[in-house]
Amino acid sequence: MGFSEIIGQDRVIRLLRQALRHGRLPHALLFTGLDGVGKRRTALALARVLNCESASLGDACDRCLSCRKMASGNHPDLLLVEREGQFIRIDRIRDLQRRLRFRPLEGGKRVILIHDAETMRTEAANALLKILEEPPPDNLFILTAPDSTALLPTIASRCLCLRFQPLTRTAIAAHLRAVHAVSPDRADLVASLAGGSLSRALTFLDEEEFNRRRQLLETTARIKDLAPTEVLAAAEKWSGDRGDLSEDLEWVKMWARDLLVAHLEAARTETLINQDLFGQLGAVAARFDPQDIPRLFDTLCALQRALRHQHLNKRSSLEALFFALRAGTGKDSLWHQPLLPALEQQPFIRAAHG
Ligand SMILES: [Zn+2]
Repeated sequence: MGFSEIIGQDRVIRLLRQALRHGRLPHALLFTGLDGVGKRRTALALARVLNCESASLGDACDRCLSCRKMASGNHPDLLLVEREGQFIRIDRIRDLQRRLRFRPLEGGKRVILIHDAETMRTEAANALLKILEEPPPDNLFILTAPDSTALLPTIASRCLCLRFQPLTRTAIAAHLRAVHAVSPDRADLVASLAGGSLSRALTFLDEEEFNRRRQLLETTARIKDLAPTEVLAAAEKWSGDRGDLSEDLEWVKMWARDLLVAHLEAARTETLINQDLFGQLGAVAARFDPQDIPRLFDTLCALQRALRHQHLNKRSSLEALFFALRAGTGKDSLWHQPLLPALEQQPFIRAAHG
């Protein structure tokens, strides 16, 4: 995989090529941006070109021994640190410290990719900070994170930050048609749902995942009609479902955004993300107070942040979210409080935190 296969990140790729040409890569890079916009693939492409035996004009040859080892994931000078479950374990950083005592094995530039670096907890982050304070020579650290503020400021400030843009609908749709042979209509719908992320677009090519999304959004749309026991059952079903809750919350965020659009103007298909729900969004929007929608959005963001940092009970979080949405504004509104604290005050969440 080379730079030429990365779509929609021309600015970042141009900067990296320039740095390569002038031999001016810093010792640590931070790639920020949404999931699925090419951060990891760009890091791997950079590792490949830095170690290629016959790179030309900033592109790897894809044929030499080094390129072939990189392609098979067996290159000793490409170290990948990833989270296991929710977090990057401290052991992984300690292991890294040990390996860095030795020079790169194959004489090139060792690349250490720390993917989802925001999932390091304090101990791991501090251990990494120690490494970055005195980086051994011939190593390039590449961290990925949604945003530089998701990291310790002392870590972020030691990296050159390159921001990856969300991909355009057009770029995603074109890629789906060209590389995955998706029909034009389907490609447009999936590209619209992808919210700028190619990896999300690819998950929606899976029929089962596509239907899971529809079910969640249909449940959310009917929330005001459900009896409390049905709300509890819906939260239970959802929390037991396979899938990443944070990603599911992203679907609800995009749906909330569409409700707001439907409130502000007579919805047109092209202004919506959830184009397949066009027929029902107007009627659903009419049942929600427009003031509740930004609150819902904020709450969803707060929940996603909390999921990154805490062992939040999925079921309790969903129960609290559904009940808040069901109650809406008014005397008993659960939205009047600042948002995440409001959720934390729910007995469900308190119970989950023990
Ligand atoms: Zn090569």
